[in-house]
Amino acid sequence: MRVVQKFGGSSVADAESIKRVARRIVSAQAGGNEVVVVISAMGDTTDELMDLALQVSPEPRPRELDMLLTAGERISAALLAMAINDLGATARSFTGSQAGVITTGTHGDARIIDITPGRIVSALAEGDVVIVAGFQGVSQTTKDVTTLGRGASDTTAVALAAALGAAYCEIYSDVDGVFTADPRIVPGARQIPQIGYEDMLELAANGAKILHLRCVEYARREHVPVHVRSSFSDLPGTWVKDIDYEESGMEQPLIEGIAHDRSEAKITIVGVPDRVGEAADIFSAVADADVNIDMIVQNVSREHEQATDISFTLAQTDGARAIAALREAQERIGFVDVLYDDQVGKVSVVGVGMRSHPGVTARFFRALADAGVNIGMISTSEIRISVVVDIKDVETAVRAGHTAFGLDSEGEAVVYAGTGR
Ligand code: ASP
Ligand code: MG
Repeated sequence: MRVVQKFGGSSVADAESIKRVARRIVSAQAGGNEVVVVISAMGDTTDELMDLALQVSPEPRPRELDMLLTAGERISAALLAMAINDLGATARSFTGSQAGVITTGTHGDARIIDITPGRIVSALAEGDVVIVAGFQGVSQTTKDVTTLGRGASDTTAVALAAALGAAYCEIYSDVDGVFTADPRIVPGARQIPQIGYEDMLELAANGAKILHLRCVEYARREHVPVHVRSSFSDLPGTWVKDIDYEESGMEQPLIEGIAHDRSEAKITIVGVPDRVGEAADIFSAVADADVNIDMIVQNVSREHEQATDISFTLAQTDGARAIAALREAQERIGFVDVLYDDQVGKVSVVGVGMRSHPGVTARFFRALADAGVNIGMISTSEIRISVVVDIKDVETAVRAGHTAFGLDSEGEAVVYAGTGR
């Protein structure tokens, strides 16, 4: 069988861990498999390289940043290949470019547009274990080295699994699988044995860091089964795959899990004249600055007559750009002020099962109220309810939701490693 295994940074944080992972890979190969490994940079290397870059230059050019950051994965790929070779198997490491990962030219956030895995296939045919540096590729147009966004080694792995027709893709990390909430916050979080792509997408899109969002999108589109599991144990993990509840006779859970996200900020535009076209002008200004919006609320202004206040959330990393764009448009649009608040967090309850069940929102809001959590903003979809709360209330809100939907278990989830950075 052909399999792709991806190991995250905390699984290869030092020399000993690299040797441990090498043993695991060799035994997978000895079990009769063709093994392709996608590897992340060791430990917090990517963050450290990023810090270093910022010490050298306040605004490093994205092309050079990509040259720098891709070095992290190259280091771990080469070291892992050495460790495997010492165990009597043969391994060959490849950069993303050598592995045939062809991307768009957007440095720091490139998309995979094609995979030409010729060198991988011939190395496999020669009996080698193939090690691919994750999170990177080469631009089709400029031929420059690109990165696919933070956490994107997962995406490299699933994309390769699809291109190579692998039976499945294993994502090894420092927890036993996907949990009903972050076990670092909810010790009684439960491991989910299997979860559909749609639920997993929603969890990943709303802050669950266990899988990169684009990796789940890719897996869903290409129907790649993904097994999320720990590199520190042999326990079965979580299967992310197509699940047909009707056919299997299993009961679909009402709520699959609770995700949280501390990476957003809230902008409030105060005293917007209550006229047709104001919202269009405001959000055009924001869009022209290339800023993505998440939630939006509009209220009658408390302080200004004939005016509304509009609040929206966005990624903190886009905050400065959005504020600058709004300030520039302030006079033309005619609002009174713009406020920025990054002391917020988003908590989301996710489950395809809620589609056909009334009362989920009421239950969630009741639990938040009982826990003394004030809701700042609300947004819902068919399969998700999200609230924005004060940053200090995020953990309380996650725990309250987890308990309210009966997700708590007796046991304690194990977190094996990692700084959670
Ligand atoms: N090393 C990269 C990062 O830290 C990619 C990855 O680990 O998936 O974002
Ligand atoms: Mg990751």
